[in-house]
Amino acid sequence: MPQQINAYAAMSPKGKLERYSYTPKPLGPDDVEIAVQYCGICHSDLSLLNNDWGFTTYPFVPGHEVAGKISAVGSNVVHRKVGDPVGLGWYSKSCMGCKQCLTGNHNLCPTVEGTIIGRPGGFADRVRCHWSWATPLPAELDTAKAGPLFCAGVTVFNPMVQFAVKPTDRVGVVGIGGLGHLALQFLNNWGCYVVAFSSSDSKRDEAMKLGATEVVNSKNADAMKKLAKSLDFIISTVNVPLDWGTILDTLAPKGRLHLVGALAEPLPVNVFQLLTSQLSVSGSPLGSPATTAQMLDFAARHKIAPIVEEYPMSQINEAFERLESGKARYRIVLKNDLV
Ligand code: NAP
Ligand code: ZN
Repeated sequence: MPQQINAYAAMSPKGKLERYSYTPKPLGPDDVEIAVQYCGICHSDLSLLNNDWGFTTYPFVPGHEVAGKISAVGSNVVHRKVGDPVGLGWYSKSCMGCKQCLTGNHNLCPTVEGTIIGRPGGFADRVRCHWSWATPLPAELDTAKAGPLFCAGVTVFNPMVQFAVKPTDRVGVVGIGGLGHLALQFLNNWGCYVVAFSSSDSKRDEAMKLGATEVVNSKNADAMKKLAKSLDFIISTVNVPLDWGTILDTLAPKGRLHLVGALAEPLPVNVFQLLTSQLSVSGSPLGSPATTAQMLDFAARHKIAPIVEEYPMSQINEAFERLESGKARYRIVLKNDLV
């Protein structure tokens, strides 16, 4: 009889998170169980909690920025063992047989499964996934700050790899929150000239310390004009509509606006603006397990880590309120204190 898993769940949209226990199914032969030590809160946890995307199932256990140790392995698992330090992000299983999985693009597998989509996530004492998505944590990384790398970190690192961002590139990061503050660090260490676009003037000094070469308020028309046709790559992490035309104007010919922020509204794009300068607009989900491992190695080598506000997991509702207020600097991480 498998041991119960203790978690925090919301019972309805926008509901408070409350203590919730469930009995997991027997551990699958290719699955592992992770004892959660820390778990970051991503804006996607909040969007799902509020059912903003219309497909949340309740009871809903959020949490997909897990750092912990393997506590059990299925009978087929040979690449992870009990006690291994690992992390788990947004995805927890892919088919391993389709063209995408066989070419290392597991995050694009048509049947890829989300850690908190229709299954309980990491705001719990334990969480389960296919062994391939439990990525080993390099010893140099601090477990208390590692969780956010598995969602926020790989989400902004993956496009740098996919689109071969060069150290000579001038790049922009729109929105300096959980994802954006990691993007500044990755791109600065990659060697790029980095423009931080922030709507919060209070983030200016920290953005510079995190690796921005300059910080611009995208609502400041003069500052935006000065950047006209200068950037090779822009990554947007915001989930609100912005003046995309003005942002596209800052792209140099052949430049790319890459969206990872989960914008619910359609994107109004002036095709003439795209075709005259051969611009691209794109998006991507997370990254593959191999890219996640590459990102962790790069983070360890360059001492890249999120700036975190730590809360005990028992204060999960206060932590969500803080995220919703927009005041978190820059990622909230919950320390597991479930007993
Ligand atoms: P976050 O910590 O809340 O940061 C979002 C940032 O957006 C804020 O810090 C703010 O930056 C900016 N912003 C918010 N409201 C704004 C407004 N009204 N006007 C202008 N800027 C505003 O969120 P996060 O955890 O980084 O997540 C960001 C988005 O990425 C969410 O939509 C999330 O669901 C999505 N996401 C996508 C993926 C993927 O695979 N594609 C993975 C993870 C998360 P400034 O104060 O600097 O303006
Ligand atoms: Zn996330």
